[in-house]
Amino acid sequence: MFEKILYPTDFSNVSQKALGCVEDLGASGAREVIALHVIDRHTYEPLDVYPSYDYLQIEHDLEERASEEIAGIADELKQQGLTVSTRVIKGNPLREILRVADEEHVSAIVLGSHGKGNLAEILTGSVSEKVIRKAHVPVLVVKAE
Ligand code: ATP
Ligand code: MN
Repeated sequence: MFEKILYPTDFSNVSQKALGCVEDLGASGAREVIALHVIDRHTYEPLDVYPSYDYLQIEHDLEERASEEIAGIADELKQQGLTVSTRVIKGNPLREILRVADEEHVSAIVLGSHGKGNLAEILTGSVSEKVIRKAHVPVLVVKAE
């Protein structure tokens, strides 16, 4: 039923937990996974007010680190026999998650209830809340605990 999964990750503990769920789906019919990380400019653009701030260098470092992290995730999924592709994209997380889901015709999205934002008392983070609301395919939300 869920052959092709989109797994968006911000590399937080909760999204790491969601990865375990993606692996489990491999045992129940999933074949293909797209692992996606979106580099959100809004998280570091405001730092531009500091004179020592090297915008391009930081962006480059973030991209490099994200590519390494997502390659590790891909290896883990491949060990489960899944076909994996990875994406590191600069942009707005919600918009990119929805765009890739549509363009790639995924059958489901698996993500964490929370991410690095760490506001545990709210039901879901802002990205997962809006993905649930706007996605055209089923969304599996993996809770922190
Ligand atoms: P907020 O961002 O509203 O402060 P939060 O960080 O706790 O809250 P979300 O950002 O909604 O929660 O994260 C929920 C899930 O959405 C994450 O576990 C991850 O699966 C996905 N996600 C969040 N940000 C990104 C991102 N930049 N790229 C890819 N996936 C993301
Ligand atoms: Mn977040």
